[in-house]
Amino acid sequence: MNMQAQAVRHEKMRIAGALVDTDERVNVVNPYTNKVIGTVPAARPEHVRDAFARAKAFKSKLTRYERQQILLRTADILASRKEEFARLITAESGLCWKDSLYEAGRAYDVYSFAGQLTIKDDSEVFSCDISPQGKSRKIFTMRTPLLGVISAITPFNHPLNMVSHKIAPAIATNNRIILKPTELTPLTALALADVLYEAGLPPEMLSIVTGNPHSMGDAMITDPDADLVTFTGSVRVGKHIAANAGYKRLVLELGGNDPLIVMEDADLEKAAELAVLGATKNSGQRCTAVKRILCVEAVADEFAELVLKRARKLKCGDPMDPSVDVGTVIHEGAAKEFERRVGDAVKDGAHLLHGNDRQGALYPPTVVDHVPYTSELVLQETFGPVIPIIRVPNDIESVIRISNSTAFGLSSGVCTNRLDYITRFVNELDVGTVNVWEVPGYRIEMSPFGGIKDSGLGYKEGVQEAMKSFTNVKTYSLPWS
Ligand code: NAD
Repeated sequence: MNMQAQAVRHEKMRIAGALVDTDERVNVVNPYTNKVIGTVPAARPEHVRDAFARAKAFKSKLTRYERQQILLRTADILASRKEEFARLITAESGLCWKDSLYEAGRAYDVYSFAGQLTIKDDSEVFSCDISPQGKSRKIFTMRTPLLGVISAITPFNHPLNMVSHKIAPAIATNNRIILKPTELTPLTALALADVLYEAGLPPEMLSIVTGNPHSMGDAMITDPDADLVTFTGSVRVGKHIAANAGYKRLVLELGGNDPLIVMEDADLEKAAELAVLGATKNSGQRCTAVKRILCVEAVADEFAELVLKRARKLKCGDPMDPSVDVGTVIHEGAAKEFERRVGDAVKDGAHLLHGNDRQGALYPPTVVDHVPYTSELVLQETFGPVIPIIRVPNDIESVIRISNSTAFGLSSGVCTNRLDYITRFVNELDVGTVNVWEVPGYRIEMSPFGGIKDSGLGYKEGVQEAMKSFTNVKTYSLPWS
């Protein structure tokens, strides 16, 4: 599994199944070795236009059974090539081998669940003879695919899973989709397209275009044949899309700044385990990573020690080493930014307990205690393996107020056994999810997922909800005597 031994991949775009190249290319760099491991075409707006036009011209006639078989075959192929995909994910993202294998397993679930849900018809029937004005009729609902094409744009932090959360529900609902993966990790998405074609997907139903967002990003969000833009990524780009997409349905899954809340009755060992895992898995690059730990003063000294002990045990290093727990972050620039933010928090009064010693894009788990809740480190989304402890007053009122004090509202984790606390957190935290005794990122690939406030417009993802947002509900009515 020597990275240097891998050949450089010169990939082409997949446009309705055709391999399409351009003169200008984008380099894909391994963040650990700093070597170019592949190149992909830099699409121009006309390539994007062509992809949408070809997709629009095709109407899928696949039955539910046929779609199910394609999705389940895809799941099986991914399971059999799990290690091949994990190698590619690690090579282009720097995520460690353990994280990449986990990612490949999650993608299996996405296709498997989509396959299982494809055969379920959620049509409803309304009898009309239910009021004094009623008639002897029935109204029926049915879901139809979009008339136009789905435009999907994905981030770097889950090169396979995030892409799958766009593609699988699109296939399940008989839609056509054009996907633009991030320019940082496009190779996994291209390899996935080949798996889907191999599994029997009509190539017109899926195109992958690659390139620099500043030259072809707007083409993805303004194409006249795009009915819906589904975007996962930063708040900045999400708001740019919202301002420019015009009359299209928008599904925006944006950044997070999720708290893990530790109350005075919590089992502190268990809470420390969740804090460290939640903040460092996937190199801390999850929208739902633990980005702030709100611990009540009464138990903060003991809790901080337990966190420190666990963080020290994590191994940070060569992402291909199977014993490594934390690989690199996406690039050196990101690591430098975390270093600066931690440094600024320390100037604001925080105590650095461990880490913050960067080597290139390797940024180790970093424990910072006494972080002011107004510090940039925890007010903004810090997308790396920082474990910041914010000490909060011993009253639930203050905990909820501080938790709700950022612009984000994605998810949360809560460590307490008190039912009175739990019900208040579930009712009063302004977030999409409250996980009691779990990390904020806990979910299954099928359950509804997504945030409010700056984290999203409220449309949920997760296979089942995505299938709903990718369809139109049509009603028809019949006389029924
Ligand atoms: P990003 O916003 O920088 O990029 C995301 C995608 O948008 C990339 O494909 C990029 O090329 C594209 N893009 C950039 N500018 C564009 C433009 N002007 N027009 C069209 N497309 C454009 O995000 P990132 O750094 O790749 O990912 C990290 C972010 O994603 C974090 O904020 C994280 O929280 C968020 N995220 C959210 C979720 C969720 O479900 N809520 C899941 C994963 C990641």
